Amino acid sequence: MAESKTVHSPLLTYFSMLSLLTLCPPFVILLWYTMVHADGSVSQTFDYLKQHGLQGLIDIWPRPTATAWKIIACYAAFEAALQLLLPGKRVEGPISPMGNRPVYKANGVAAYVVTLVTYLGLWWFGIFNPTVVYDHLGEIFSALIFGSFVFCIFLYIKGRVAPSSTDSGSCGNVIIDFYWGMELYPRIGKHFDIKVFTNCRFGMMSWAVLAVTYCIKQYEVNGRVADSMLVNTVLMLVYVSKFFWWEAGYWSTMDIAHDRAGFYICWGCLVWVPSIYTSPGMYLVNHPVNLGTQLALYILVAGILCIYINYDCDRQRQEFRRTNGKCLVWGKAPTKIVASYTTTSGETKNSLLLTSGWWGLSRHFHYVPEILSAFFWTVPALFNHFLPFFYVIFLTILLFDRAKRDDDRCRSKYGKYWKVYCEKVPYRIIPGIY
Ligand code: NDP
Repeated sequence: MAESKTVHSPLLTYFSMLSLLTLCPPFVILLWYTMVHADGSVSQTFDYLKQHGLQGLIDIWPRPTATAWKIIACYAAFEAALQLLLPGKRVEGPISPMGNRPVYKANGVAAYVVTLVTYLGLWWFGIFNPTVVYDHLGEIFSALIFGSFVFCIFLYIKGRVAPSSTDSGSCGNVIIDFYWGMELYPRIGKHFDIKVFTNCRFGMMSWAVLAVTYCIKQYEVNGRVADSMLVNTVLMLVYVSKFFWWEAGYWSTMDIAHDRAGFYICWGCLVWVPSIYTSPGMYLVNHPVNLGTQLALYILVAGILCIYINYDCDRQRQEFRRTNGKCLVWGKAPTKIVASYTTTSGETKNSLLLTSGWWGLSRHFHYVPEILSAFFWTVPALFNHFLPFFYVIFLTILLFDRAKRDDDRCRSKYGKYWKVYCEKVPYRIIPGIY
């Protein structure tokens, strides 16, 4: 059984799946509508819905148009081609629960640079104006909502009839299989990794592409870009650049190494990332707040510092594992626990758990700068409306839940060794508090 499937009870899985299916799609549409057509005001949208009820929601729900499908198809095909064709170093992922070691091609930075240069080039030379994307955003989100659902059905069927590796299988319940996924590393052919595509090249890449889109839209409407928009765009781009710089590291995190390719993770990356993660920038398009150079710079520096610390936490853990603990952590030899565990196929293996550096402060300290970074690229919107802060609040809940899921998984993987780790590093996220 997939490790991820044992984390939440079937009841909670049914509940979260039903919520995701019924609440998230209308939420994506309502968030877009509020940002773009209701001045970012939740109460304005609420009044509209109170007056018009369900019919009101149906009326504002954009139908996926041919233009929207074309934009998505061109973007997806372009990213898939870059993933397949651009050169990159061969990278081995971590050993899977079934004892496999997936191999990847690390060409994320090249794909990221080619994508942004192409997008800006198309705009600069008057071939394609990114404002078209902004003007069709509702239709694009609507198409993504339906298209991604169909894609998840494809993933389920593929996992049943043609799994790519032994890290796959059913838990005996169709709904849980569809929701948490059938396969850990689904591939098309030998080289096209579907999760790298959905999570990195479609989801994360769309974040950068949309951040640039919002900036260009504000420029084309107002003839200038407000400093608030600049701070927001730069911080989001620094964050996504960091992501692609570290992409091979991401391939050994929970999303890729533990969570199977199902509705939960894939629908999230294909729909939720482009719509919700980018939402502070979407809000700023019509709200060109002027912060003044000094305040803008303070926010920018604070945001970059948080992104750097988040990066350094991930780097420290990966460097420590890569060198088998033979590295320096904050200038000193690291302290560690040698934790043994048994794979699903019955083999006994060892993992090293770092107990110094960032990983000695708390068991998931890296989530603190992650949440703060999101706060700093949102705060340029100031506090006139609540909605731009939705992503920060969502992220906080997501990461607190994730920390618990990860702790539960590690406890069942490492048993008594995890207990020793928890005694040495007692706090889960915030040192001294939680
Ligand atoms: P990671 O996978 O990077 O870290 C957790 C894993 O690391 C554990 O499952 C365990 O895996 C191993 N581990 C735990 N403790 C230690 C230790 N002390 N020493 C060495 N290894 C340890 O976590 P995430 O995937 O949650 O985060 C990765 C990055 O992605 C972070 O920067 C995070 O902020 C970001 N993120 C962003 C999200 C967003 O929506 N913006 C959502 C989620 C994450 P093992 O089985 O190998 O021992």
